Amino acid sequence: MSTGTTNLVRTLDSVDFLKMDRRTFMKAVGALGATAFLGTYQSEIVNALELSETKLVWLHGSECTGCSESLLNGGNPDIAQALTKLKVNIVFHETICAQQGIWNDGKLVNTSELNSEILLEDTYKEGNYILVVEGSIPNGPDGSGRYLVIGNKPFKETLKEAAPNAAAIVAVGACACWGGITNADSDVEKDTDYRGVAYKKTDASKGMLKELGIDKPVINIPGCPAHPDWILLTLGAVILGKIKIPADLGAVLDEYGRPKVFFPPDHTVHENCPRRGYYDRGEFDVEVGGEKCLWKLGCKAPYAHADCGIRRWNGSVSLCTQAGGPCINCVDPGFPDSSRPLYVEVEDEGIVGTNIDTVAKVAVGAAAVAAGVHAVRRMKGE
Ligand code: SF4
Ligand code: SF4
Repeated sequence: MSTGTTNLVRTLDSVDFLKMDRRTFMKAVGALGATAFLGTYQSEIVNALELSETKLVWLHGSECTGCSESLLNGGNPDIAQALTKLKVNIVFHETICAQQGIWNDGKLVNTSELNSEILLEDTYKEGNYILVVEGSIPNGPDGSGRYLVIGNKPFKETLKEAAPNAAAIVAVGACACWGGITNADSDVEKDTDYRGVAYKKTDASKGMLKELGIDKPVINIPGCPAHPDWILLTLGAVILGKIKIPADLGAVLDEYGRPKVFFPPDHTVHENCPRRGYYDRGEFDVEVGGEKCLWKLGCKAPYAHADCGIRRWNGSVSLCTQAGGPCINCVDPGFPDSSRPLYVEVEDEGIVGTNIDTVAKVAVGAAAVAAGVHAVRRMKGE
């Protein structure tokens, strides 16, 4: 944990978080990692959730399971510790649930313990669960949704059954939010017609819930993959009643349904990049493996509205640019098309869907100005 975070934890240690208003609470979760948050408020969380248990249904659409991997690799707390602290009962999660099926050890099974179809039907009937969707939902071919069929059922139908009675719906990862990689420009894009839960690329009128005629709010946690803190802290805020659905969503989410606390409209990854000093001096790497600014290698961080530079990844030790990879703005609603070509300087090639004339000129202009200021300082011997 960084010194700043340690101090913040000490400051917040004496604060009763249950009495915090939503704004203060969201600031606290924005400033703390999931580890610090769950550790600092452990006893309050236990008290707050004494009589409650939250059911969680986690569905996988068309995806690589990278967001589940990200969450499972979350470290400390690991997903089991975190969800235990939050009194979450994972009813269904394909990657981690025990073996289930219509047939089990050669016998036909018809109990909810062994047959997840029955388990899910019962859960949907009971209602009051959080539905997490990871992965996109194909609408093709011809609106049938049969580009993804699980258990002889198009995933589109599975979502249709799961969504209506959910107390909250959270789309995790770029694919579930807006189609992501599965919806990238290609020869078959129109036929496959992959969609996010509430968006298709940046178009909220083409999300799968709208297509299904289901009117429910959705919280989008984008990223490729999503950061474990973004997932856990959002679930925590919903479970602890600090984000009331739908009442608080207008204040908490941005225009693309992303929690503003993690995806700040007025902040980009670029602002807290450890290579920022090089950028300001106009010093750029032109080959991978160096230590200078990665702008000329295609860094899109000046466009990326996320707190990666502050929160960092892998237990708060690093982030893409720190590790030597240009930021590809994986949190953008148009990702990946909006970031392509990934490793080419924006000024040279342009970015689909982004006003590069403005951004690139401002970025490069700022670097040139900064470099000029440094040159003047050097000349003056400052
Ligand atoms: S352009 Fe990219 S590498 Fe350069 S300072 Fe900004 S975030 Fe860091
Ligand atoms: S630094 Fe950029 S590419 Fe890396 S996780 Fe954050 S937004 Fe995505």
